[in-house]
Amino acid sequence: MAAKTLPKSYEPRDVEVRWGEYWEQEKTFTPDAAAKGEPYCIVIPPPNVTGQLHMGHALNLTLQDILCRYHRQKGANVLWVPGMDHAGIATQNVVERALALEGGTRGDLGREGFVERVWKWKEEYGGRILNQIRRLGASVDWTRERFTMDEGLSRAVREVFVRLYEEGLIYKGDYIINWCTRCHTALADDEVEHSPKAAFLYHIRYPLEDGTGSLVVATTRPETMLGDTAVAVHPEDERYAFAMGKNVLLPLTNRKIPVIADSYVDMGFGTGCLKITPAHDMNDFEIGQAHELELVQVIDGKGFMTEAAGAAYAGMQKDACRERAVSDLTEQGLLVKKEPYEHNVGECYRCKTVIEPFVSTQWFVAVKPLAKKARKAVESVKTRICPPQWTKTYFNWLDNIRDWCISRQIWWGHRIPAWTCDACGKLIVTREDPDRCPDCGGSLTRDPDVLDTWFSSALWPFSTLGWPDQTEELKFFYPTAVLVTGFDILFFWVARMMMMGLHFMGNVPFHDVYIHALVRDAEGKKMSKSTGNVIDPIDMIEKYGTDALRFTLTAMAAMGRDLKLSEERIEGYRHFVNKLWNAARFALMNLSDEMPDTALRPTEDISHAWISHRLEEIKAEVDQALSEYRFNDAAQTLYQFTWHEFCDWYLEMIKGDLNGPDNDKKHTAQVCLWTALTELLTLLHPIMPFVTQEIWNFLPGVVDKDLAQAKYPDPRPECLRPGVVEQMELLQDVVVSVRNIRSELDIGPSKSLDLLIRTAKDEDQAFLNNNEDFICTLARLDKVSAGPDVSAPKASATAVVGGNELYVPLSGIVDFDAELARLDKELGKLDKELGIVNKKLANENFTSKAPAQVVEKERQKAMTFSEKKAKLSALQERLRGSMG
Ligand SMILES: [Zn+2]
Ligand SMILES: [Zn+2]
Repeated sequence: MAAKTLPKSYEPRDVEVRWGEYWEQEKTFTPDAAAKGEPYCIVIPPPNVTGQLHMGHALNLTLQDILCRYHRQKGANVLWVPGMDHAGIATQNVVERALALEGGTRGDLGREGFVERVWKWKEEYGGRILNQIRRLGASVDWTRERFTMDEGLSRAVREVFVRLYEEGLIYKGDYIINWCTRCHTALADDEVEHSPKAAFLYHIRYPLEDGTGSLVVATTRPETMLGDTAVAVHPEDERYAFAMGKNVLLPLTNRKIPVIADSYVDMGFGTGCLKITPAHDMNDFEIGQAHELELVQVIDGKGFMTEAAGAAYAGMQKDACRERAVSDLTEQGLLVKKEPYEHNVGECYRCKTVIEPFVSTQWFVAVKPLAKKARKAVESVKTRICPPQWTKTYFNWLDNIRDWCISRQIWWGHRIPAWTCDACGKLIVTREDPDRCPDCGGSLTRDPDVLDTWFSSALWPFSTLGWPDQTEELKFFYPTAVLVTGFDILFFWVARMMMMGLHFMGNVPFHDVYIHALVRDAEGKKMSKSTGNVIDPIDMIEKYGTDALRFTLTAMAAMGRDLKLSEERIEGYRHFVNKLWNAARFALMNLSDEMPDTALRPTEDISHAWISHRLEEIKAEVDQALSEYRFNDAAQTLYQFTWHEFCDWYLEMIKGDLNGPDNDKKHTAQVCLWTALTELLTLLHPIMPFVTQEIWNFLPGVVDKDLAQAKYPDPRPECLRPGVVEQMELLQDVVVSVRNIRSELDIGPSKSLDLLIRTAKDEDQAFLNNNEDFICTLARLDKVSAGPDVSAPKASATAVVGGNELYVPLSGIVDFDAELARLDKELGKLDKELGIVNKKLANENFTSKAPAQVVEKERQKAMTFSEKKAKLSALQERLRGSMG
C-alpha cells in the first residue's frame, strides 16, 4: 500500500497555525531543568511592550530559533525565555497620546490612576508583538514568559537597587545631566543622539570691570550667558595676561564675574576666551566644580528662563530669549559678529527634542568597578564576542564609561525604593516599604522618580530565571549560552548585563554574544517609514509563508555583513519551499506505508552510494556551520544539496528502480530515498520548521510525529565512499554534454540518439558501461558504448569529458548540408552588417563628431556581431569536422 500523499500545493497559513498551536499545547519547548542533556539557554532580547515586529526582529528571532532547534536536535536541554520590556518613556508617551485624544492628561488621572491606565493599556494592546513572534515560529517556552514589570522581576530590581546602595555603588548627587524638556526626564549619555545642525556663532564682548579693556567670547547659545559665572583663558595665553585675576561685567546683567585660568581652554579655538556656564554645559560644570564656581540656573526643566535670568528675561521661552538677548547686545554695541556655524547638537532619542544640559539631583550607579570586571571577562574570553571586531568597541566604551544616571522623572517604571523623613530628613532605602522614620517616627515621602528602563533589562538573564531565589532553573541554565543581538544595543544593554551578571551572580550572563548585521533595503539603504522602503515581515509571511521569509534571512545572514533584502529574494525562496514540497510529494507516492523495515546499507549503485555519501558530508558541514554561527553557510549548503543534487539528479536517477519490476532494487531505492528525505527534513527543520514538520507528519515509519523533538541525524561513516563524487561528476558531465549537443543543434527530446565514448582509463570504461541505464535515461539516449578502441563515426557531434571523447552520431538526424547552408547564409549576413559598422568606426569624422553614446552603441554592435560570428564559425567547423 502506498503512503499517504501530500496535497498538491503547500498552503503555509493553515500549516503554520496548526503546528504553532500544537507545539504550544504539547509544551514541546518547555524544558525540565531536571531532565537530561547539557543546559542551553537563550534569553530573548525583550521587545518593547509598545513594539511591532520589524525585519530586524525577524532576523534576530530567526537566528535564535535556529540555534535553539539545532541544539535540541543535538541533545541539549534547551530553554528559550520569551518576554517584553516595559519601555518606560516610550510606553508613557503612547498612553499619554491616547489620553490626549480623549482630551485628558496624566495629571488629571494622578500618578496611581495613570499607572493603572498603563497596565490596562498593556493588557489590551501590549501583547501584539508576542503574537507576531508566534507567527515567526519561535520555539520559546511560553509558560515562562516574563515582563520587566512583573512581580518577580520587580523584586529582583528592588534587591539589586538596595544591595548596590548598601555597597555604596548607588548614590544620590547633584549632577549635570542630559535633560529632555519635552519628556521632562533625564537621559543617559547614550540616549542622546548627536546630529550636525546649522547654527550661528555669536562673538560677544565682555568689558573688564576696571575699564582697561575687554574680552571677546564666542558661543552658539547667547541666552546661557545670563548664567555665566566666569570667563576662562589658558594660563599660558600671553594675550590675556592683563586680564587674569580681574573681573568682567557680564553684559545684559552687569553681574561681576572673574576671569580664571584653566588649561582646559584651547588657545587656538575662537578668541581663546571661554564663557563658563556651569549649570548649562557639561564641560563648564566640571570646570566650575574645579574652581568652586557658583551654579546659576537660568533655564528651567521645561525650557523657560528662570528668575535668575533677570527681570527682563524671566519667563521667556529659551529660543525667544536667545533672539531678545542678541538684539539687546546689538543695541548696546556688544555683539562683535555673528557667523554661520555647523555643530553637533544632542537630541532626545525618543522625541528628537534638543537636549538641555541641566543640573539636578539624580540617582547614579558608580559603574567604574563594575565595568572593570565586565572588561576582564571579555579579555579572558569568559564571554566571546562574535564577530570579534566588536570587542574593541566594547572595550572602548567601558574604558570611557561615566557614572550611570538611573533616575527618570516619569511615572511608568520601577519606582525608586527610597524615602525621606519629613521631620529629620533621613534617607531610607529598603527592601520593604517603611511606614515611619526609624529614627524619629516622622512621616515619610517616597522618591517620585522611577528607574531607567535599562536598569531592569540589565538583570534580564538572571531575573527571568528566578533570582534572587536560587531556583533550579537559575542553577541549571545560568550562565546562558548566547545572546543574539544587534550592535546598536551593545552598550545600552549587553555591557550592562555583563556588569550586573558578574556582580550579582559571580559569573558572566552568557558565553557568547553573537552580533548580527542590519537588514537594509535592496540598495543598501536603511529601512524607514519616511523613505517608504520598509518591508514588513508579517506582510511577507502572509504572502510567501514564514519558512520562505526565514530561509531568506538565514541565507543572507553572513557574519558582519548587512543584509540587502528585497521582496524578490523572499519570493525566490518560496520557490525553494515548493521544490521541497514537490520532491516530498514524489517520494511519498513511491514509498509504501510500512516504510522502512530495513536500515540504509552501503550499496554499489552509484545513485544511492553518491547521495548517501553526500548526505554524510552535508550533515557534517551544516553541523560545523551552525556551531560556528555561520548561518548563511548552513542555508546555502542545504539549498544547493536539496535543489541541485537531491531533486535535479537523485530523484531522476531512481525513478527507474522505483517503477521497475525488480523488487530488490525497488526496496533499496525506497530505503535510501526514505532515509535521505527524513534526514534532509531534519537538517532543514531549524531554518524552515513548518514545511518540514508538515511533510514529516505524512512520512511513513517516523517514530515521533513531532519533528521538533527529532535528533540530529547520527553520522553513518560506512556510507562515506571515497571517489564516488568524482564518478558521479563524470556521469553528470557526460549527460550535460549530450544535453548541450541537443540544444545547440536543436535536436528535440523525442529524437533518440546514441553515444559512443572513447575512454582513457579502464575504470571509466567499466563505470560508464555499468551505468548505461542512468546515462540513457538522463540524456535520453538509446545506447551507450564505451571503450578504448571506439572510433569516431562519420558525421557526429563531439565533446571531451575528463579525457574521454564523446561522439554522438548525427547522420539521419541532422541534415548536414541544409544546416551548413543555413550557417553560411547567416554568416554572410553577419559579415555584411559587421562591415558597415566597422566602416563607420574607421571613419574619424563619425567617431569625433557623433555624440559619445552613439559611437559607444556602434562599438557595442561591432562586439556583439564579432562574438556571434565566432560562435557560428566554430559550430560550422565542428559540423564540417564531424562529417569526417
Ligand atoms: Zn524627549
Ligand atoms: Zn526622621
